[in-house]
This record gives sequence, structure tokens and C-alpha cells, in this order.
Amino acid sequence: MAQGIPDSSKKLFEFVRDNINTDGNQREAEAKSYLILEHLLKVDRNDIILDRSVTLLAEKSKTLLKYIDRINQGEPVQYILGEGYFYGRPFIVNSNVLIPRSETEELIELILNENPDKRLRVFDVGTGTGCIPITLAKERPGLKCFALDFSPRALKVARQNAERYNVSIEFFLIDILKEGIPVDHLDVVVSNPPYITRKEMEHLERTVKDFEPHTALFIPDEDPILFYRHIAARAAARLKPKGRIYFEINEEYGADVSKCLVENRFQNIKIIKDIHGKDRFVRGEKSI
Ligand code: GLN
Repeated sequence: MAQGIPDSSKKLFEFVRDNINTDGNQREAEAKSYLILEHLLKVDRNDIILDRSVTLLAEKSKTLLKYIDRINQGEPVQYILGEGYFYGRPFIVNSNVLIPRSETEELIELILNENPDKRLRVFDVGTGTGCIPITLAKERPGLKCFALDFSPRALKVARQNAERYNVSIEFFLIDILKEGIPVDHLDVVVSNPPYITRKEMEHLERTVKDFEPHTALFIPDEDPILFYRHIAARAAARLKPKGRIYFEINEEYGADVSKCLVENRFQNIKIIKDIHGKDRFVRGEKSI
């Protein structure tokens, strides 16, 4: 065992927590400590809380110290461990994909609640980890899911995740700014495209800005709803009558995204807030 690292699981937890720098945010330090120890020791949170004894081999002590160091350099814990949780399931992540966000879990709930039909055809634009179509397929077996991403590296991760969860999803390597959606008769098109503006970029935390893929976060143009325009027009061509579109949005652009949906002849448009009370989703229905 490396010097100074305790082997009681509770003391070990306190050691990690007290060596992680989270600018005084105790809850964040604790959350990260649990994630690291659960992963490294293959224990449960309860094992730590109940202080069950653990054996920390020398090799793992070294790894633990490296993890703490990387956390303190600002790297997101999900990249360090190679997985991040979404809707209660671990997904493989690496620096080629955005780490799934809890807001997007609300998007899943919205889609499942508004579309009780068991045999829908769903297309996700800009899938990243694949967390949206994979979760929908797991929660509602019988759905036929498709997804695209412009990044071959992201698609590789999405395919690994689909395999891990044994769901069959058709993936396409397509840049939605250049090409259309390749399948027809869709019931649902969903997307969480890049929506952070250049102005907002400066205010982002370092863990996001320095480590997550910029192509998944930032709008590559002055037009804040660039992706929404392309996706709305291309979805309108592929959705069945009454088929629905669901977007995750930047809270500043609910009205613009809604207007764009009107221009593409969608109806029943609604802006929906996230649990923090911010405009976060827009949905519309294709007219007949
Ligand atoms: N919600 C993400 C964030 O705030 C951004 C995701 C996106 O651009 N689609 O970091």
C-alpha cells in the first residue's frame, strides 16, 4: 500500500474526499469520491458507508493517486473512469463524446410520456454516446431506433454502448448540416445539438471547456439556432403526419426555435422547462 493511504473503506473515502479539490463544494467532492472508489474497488456505496474492510493493492493505490491528480487538473470524473451514468445506466464515455447530462434524462421522460405507442420509429440526430436511443430502446422494447453523428469516433462509442445493452440501433455517419435524415416514416425525431454560443463559451467551467468535445458543445456559426434550422427542415421531410420533433435547447432561444418550427410547418409547439425552471425543451407536431 502506498504510504498514507488507509485501508478502512470509510477512512479511504475521507482520504479521497479531502484530497479532491472542488473549491469547497463538499457534496461534489463526496459524489466524486464515491464514484472513484466504487469503480476502483468494485464495492457498493453501502460498503463504504458501513465501513466494510477493503484491500487496496499497491497497484490500485497508485491508480487512486493518479485519479485524484487528474480530478485536480479539472478532468471530469466520467472521463477518468470511462463511464458516466444516464437514466440509471452506465454508458461508456471518452473525450470524443459529451458526457450525458441530467437535463437530457428529462427529455427521455417527456418523449416516453407523450408517446405511449410501443412500436414507434425514432431518430436521434447527434447521438454522441448513444444515450438517447439506447435508453429509449431499453425503456420501451419494441421501438425502432436510428441515430446519426458526424463524428466517426463518437459513433464508435455509441456502437459499443448499444452492444453493451444489447439493443439493435441503426447508426449513420452523417453531418446534418450537409445531408438529410436517411430514413422515412418516422414517428419521432429527437436532438440535443450543440447550443452554446461563443459569448457563453467564456463563462463555462474548465472541466467542460478544456475536456469535452467542442464540436458537441459550441455552435460553429453566429446563428444560435443553426442546427435547429437544419434538423427541423430535414425532420419535416421524414416524419409521418402527426409525427413529433423534440429538441433540447439553450434556455435563451425557446422563442427562436419555436418560430423555426412554425416556419417548417410544425404545430402544437410547446416550450418545456427543466427541473431548474429553465426553458430547456421544445416539441412540435408535424401537420398532416
Ligand atoms: N447542456 C450542455 C452543457 O451545458 C450543453 C449541451 C449542448 O450543447 N447540447 O454543458
